[in-house]
Amino acid sequence: MASGFSHAIAAVALGKTYTGSRMSWRFWGLAIASAVLPDADIITFGLGINYEDMLGHRGLTHSLAFALVWGFMVAWSEFKQIARFSREWWGLVLFFFLATASHGVLDALTNGGLGVAFFAPFDSTRYFFPWHEIEVSPLTVRQFFSEWGGAVVRSELKYIWLPCSVLWLAAWSVRRFSRSKLDRPI
Ligand SMILES: [Zn+2]
Repeated sequence: MASGFSHAIAAVALGKTYTGSRMSWRFWGLAIASAVLPDADIITFGLGINYEDMLGHRGLTHSLAFALVWGFMVAWSEFKQIARFSREWWGLVLFFFLATASHGVLDALTNGGLGVAFFAPFDSTRYFFPWHEIEVSPLTVRQFFSEWGGAVVRSELKYIWLPCSVLWLAAWSVRRFSRSKLDRPI
């Protein structure tokens, strides 16, 4: 996995790209939870499920199908004030799908563990992207506060936080630019 902090920052960057509106803390909390959620599968180690199994780490919870179902569930149950199947509602489904799927994408860019079962439950093949140089994060907090953790932080700052900041800044600039064009008197 990438570290939980980096999954969270990816969700925030996606959210800032998705909307320029002021969103509730609940929205941001759900976005971050969605991006971190797939790693809940580490409990399967304690249940005796093998890493490479469909239900193992980086298995089903890291798949695109899981992200899609989760996106629907969040939009359906947490945004009842928005008319279901309206354009805005579909936008939320898409956003929470992307926030959740971003987790598997970042994991498939790391240099350790097994790949990500993007197409579970239909296909259990594990995938990495051709470039996968992000230092893999340890699974335990104790290991994180070690030399390994330092290398993870340096790698994630360069390969996740920096691109996310650029994405965030680009979305902000585009909105500001288009707003100032609209505000200009004719
Ligand atoms: Zn993961």
